[in-house]
Amino acid sequence: MPRRTYAKAETWSREELEAFQLRKLRRVMARNWEHNPFYRDLWTQARVSPDDIQTLADFRHRVPAIEKRDCLADQSDFPPLGRRLGVPPESVAQIHLTSGTTGVGQEAWGLTQADVELSATLWLYQYHWMGLQRGDVAFYSMPVAFFANGLSADYAAKKMGMVSFNLFGMDKELVFRLMERFQPHYVYGTMAMPSMVGTDDDKPRERFHRLKGLSGALMGVETIKKVTDLWGAPLYEMYGCTQASSVVGATCEHTAVVGDRGGMVHFLESHFIVECLNRETGEPAGPEEDCEIFLTTLDREASPAIRFRMHDKATFLPHTACTCGRPFNGYRVGTIARWDDMMKIKGINIWPSMMDDIVMMHPEVHEYRGYVEVDAARSREVMRIVVDFKPDTASEQRARFLEGLRHEVKATTFVTPTVEEAPEPLPGFAFKPARWTDNRR
Ligand SMILES: [Zn+2]
Repeated sequence: MPRRTYAKAETWSREELEAFQLRKLRRVMARNWEHNPFYRDLWTQARVSPDDIQTLADFRHRVPAIEKRDCLADQSDFPPLGRRLGVPPESVAQIHLTSGTTGVGQEAWGLTQADVELSATLWLYQYHWMGLQRGDVAFYSMPVAFFANGLSADYAAKKMGMVSFNLFGMDKELVFRLMERFQPHYVYGTMAMPSMVGTDDDKPRERFHRLKGLSGALMGVETIKKVTDLWGAPLYEMYGCTQASSVVGATCEHTAVVGDRGGMVHFLESHFIVECLNRETGEPAGPEEDCEIFLTTLDREASPAIRFRMHDKATFLPHTACTCGRPFNGYRVGTIARWDDMMKIKGINIWPSMMDDIVMMHPEVHEYRGYVEVDAARSREVMRIVVDFKPDTASEQRARFLEGLRHEVKATTFVTPTVEEAPEPLPGFAFKPARWTDNRR
């Protein structure tokens, strides 16, 4: 597999990379101590100053983490961007808002023009790794508006010299007709994009002849295999967030599935410190261990994120886990989930994304919903799955399917669900799916 390098950092040793991170980090700490009252107060309270940070371990042990609720409190005390903005308001060139799917509220993150440039540059790593070039045609399906993801990707396409189409929210038939007419080299779909998953009738493999790659975020391995097969093109995964204003990690030339397993997302560690910590000990996770992700932006001028607790869970992989030789650590594709979404059922950790991967992969399924409940009569926890079939599924087939699904869920999760057919059609999702309800609380 040809290795396509975008930046010099990709050729460094791990030691060189960490020394570089530490130098940048100390500059970030000094600058924000000077100019950012939010961080200065936070660190003063924690009795730590930039001079105390001589190693990355000092940083992990001494500097307090922040999270969403700290940002929301800061914004409400000092609207609209909070004191953590850290630059004069007149140097703000763009504002990103989080999507607010958690229902807590929308964080607002300011960017200077240099931050806007960086947000686009971060995509270019993966675009080069995928072999995209100037003149290629790119189709995007994420909302642009005030979202880090959409804004940064569209600008990245321009920087790359690609032609971009932003088709979020458009009718699937229209999207496919446009793709047939302009023949994309690259298609970005979210995990919920119905046109990417489960539509054998659309025959994308036959209609689009010059695709170099697809990319998506937070998909399960089975979904990825299915999408790859349907489209006849490799799929690459990326991990991004509003706090970073763009991409934080991406799969290299080796794509999102290697052999039969999830591949490796490499963090872009010359721009970020991404701490993957064991949730109990707070120390770095070992290979193949579940971890929680903490993010520090090393290049962002406005609204820097310094030890931002993402509440994301992933299975950690050291840089040596991938054969590409890059010094960047990362996580195994298909293992990312929100710690907050975790449903502990009968003592077993289950994530909605894992259930989506099992249920939605069946061509018979149009949609489904899941419930976690307490069976009061027998005072035990139950998992209930309600399936909405595609109309062409014969009724005698349905009962057999539900029984098969019950066994499949049990074999995968060790929890036996009750499975039933939906009494009426269930609506799909345009963006991030939320199919599970926990009725125990
Ligand atoms: Zn690699």
